[in-house]
Amino acid sequence: MATTETTLATVPHWIDGKEVTVDGGRTAPVFDPALGIATKHVGLADSAEIEAAIASAKAAFPAWRDLSLARRQAVLFKFRELLDARKHELAEIITGEHGKVLSDALGEISRGQEVVEFATGLAHHLKGEFSEQVSTDVDVYSLRQPLGVVGIISPFNFPAMVPMWFFPIAIAAGNTVVLKPSEKDPSAAIWLAKLWKEAGLPDGVFTVLNGDKAAVDGLLEHPDVKAISFVGSTPIAKYVYEQGSKHGKRVQALGGAKNHMLVLPDADLDLVADSAINAGFGSAGERCMAISVVVAVEPIADDLIDKIVDRMRGLKVGDGRRNCDMGPLVTEQHRDKVASYIDIAAADGATVVIDGRGIEVDGEADGFWLGPTLLDKVPTTSRAYTEEIFGPVLSVVRVGSYEEGVELINSGAFGNGTAIFTNDGGAARRFQREIEVGMIGINVPIPVPVATFSFGGWKSSLFGDTKAHGAEGVRFFTQQKAVTARWLDPSHGGINLGFPQN
Ligand code: NAD
Repeated sequence: MATTETTLATVPHWIDGKEVTVDGGRTAPVFDPALGIATKHVGLADSAEIEAAIASAKAAFPAWRDLSLARRQAVLFKFRELLDARKHELAEIITGEHGKVLSDALGEISRGQEVVEFATGLAHHLKGEFSEQVSTDVDVYSLRQPLGVVGIISPFNFPAMVPMWFFPIAIAAGNTVVLKPSEKDPSAAIWLAKLWKEAGLPDGVFTVLNGDKAAVDGLLEHPDVKAISFVGSTPIAKYVYEQGSKHGKRVQALGGAKNHMLVLPDADLDLVADSAINAGFGSAGERCMAISVVVAVEPIADDLIDKIVDRMRGLKVGDGRRNCDMGPLVTEQHRDKVASYIDIAAADGATVVIDGRGIEVDGEADGFWLGPTLLDKVPTTSRAYTEEIFGPVLSVVRVGSYEEGVELINSGAFGNGTAIFTNDGGAARRFQREIEVGMIGINVPIPVPVATFSFGGWKSSLFGDTKAHGAEGVRFFTQQKAVTARWLDPSHGGINLGFPQN
């Protein structure tokens, strides 16, 4: 793989409203996956940088907390307008480091923007409750107040959307944020930080701390960080949840996935095939809500596979800037790991219907390519079935009945998303009740809830009890206070050591 190591720029941190360049210190390469070359480096925070980032966020907190809701809202509106006007710039940055096609990068920005729009309603979301006269002349009311400095740790696959699941609400609620983006595609976070500044956000309210495990551990252990929102793979999500909790923080840690699409025999197989392609191979399968397993209730599997294969042959793989359907994988190492599952599945007895290795692409030969791959009859004991592959490898598992399909899905370790395809409303309703998964699609393959609802899975797909955005997001980034008030008059005197009653 070619690199021009000496001439590469280093992606800085963003601390106190300005770029903090990394001199000396540890760095990691950032690749353009379609070219297969390192195009920059990213600084990996050391302990002094971690300390500076958190200290700046801590110092900015009191003034931001005390700013009126109307003024905070004005900053959010401005951020939303700037984002909407300049999203093409951000999409280019995402495609240049992640590899996903430009239209998909724009798609992730618009789903993040949705949360910004939700957060502009902060005056409504932060309203407390009030009960008058709960006891004689006594009123009780509740307040929702910010936590302080909150840490957001995000994965490579949505460098703009996943941070935006959290920071608009955290900031709207009066917190200050330290974002630790993925070191694989860190530039989107810096672009967003500059946009905040342009929108009028005071320095220190939004910080970007680039880095790896050391930066994550720094956030998890620091006493001035009050909460952590994490998204990434299941082993790291579990680690973050345990470490953060051990250090007294509120933690929500969203993990990996293995999403199944259950196809009943009455379904429209053309619609199913389109959906399987879009949800299986969009963003090269590097989506936590990608469909990775089609569970076909017989006798439809052969017909469905024919339709999927027809569509796969028409997919154009290449550089995301060239109007292709699917781009490269994020790194060479990840591409090789994903490809290794094709051999694992074959060795375990699966049929490799289409092998994406060696595909011809519209792009540079050194790009991190792997074409769409289809596996049939994948044994449910194979690691290709039990593990998250996170690439363009779609598996088909054949079952004899609806019940067998549901039992299979419920027996899995993950519970992020799932979908049922059928025209039978009764079956769909039964599915939504019986399935042990956090997000369900009915004839919708990627059921990502809109921002007014909350996003999150069950089982190994979410550690903690709070999901992202919507009402749960507001609850996560605020703490509740209950006030019991009485305005005294002379009738309230006297000693009484009993427990207060009505
Ligand atoms: P990852 O777990 O490797 O990294 C996520 C974050 O954790 C990054 O910021 C990374 O720097 C940090 N990290 C990595 N190793 C660490 C360690 N040992 N200690 C502390 N921090 C560490 O995940 P990824 O490869 O960037 O992203 C893909 C994964 O994210 C997939 O498993 C995918 O399913 C998952 N994901 C889940 C959701 C969801 O909503 N559940 C959404 C997007 C992605």
